[in-house]
Amino acid sequence: MKAVILLLRMVRTITPMLKRQLLFIGSSLGISMVLTYFFGFLIGIAINIAIFLGIIFYIRKKQMNGLKSFGFSDEKIGGGYTNSGTRLRYICLSCASEVSGSKCRRCGSKMKKPVF
Ligand SMILES: [Zn+2]
Repeated sequence: MKAVILLLRMVRTITPMLKRQLLFIGSSLGISMVLTYFFGFLIGIAINIAIFLGIIFYIRKKQMNGLKSFGFSDEKIGGGYTNSGTRLRYICLSCASEVSGSKCRRCGSKMKKPVF
């Protein structure tokens, strides 16, 4: 019985979100049908595809925002960024060997360039 109540509560919290998305998709489908009616088949389909892509991007963005509010993707993106920053390699400009510190170990030159 408790599981059922929990499930119902979950459904109740999820449903408004789903309803909004479904409403959004439904209304845009209606709009695209009207557009097809007015502009003819080919232009209508082109507009449909544009609208559809727009919806997908919209939902993606919403979901990204949702994840961000949970503290998910932000951290992940930041972590990936700093990781690639520390993984950046440098090559000595005068002898072309890999530089790991602030200056070249082989020739002592401080001139280096990043390698991507
Ligand atoms: Zn060097």
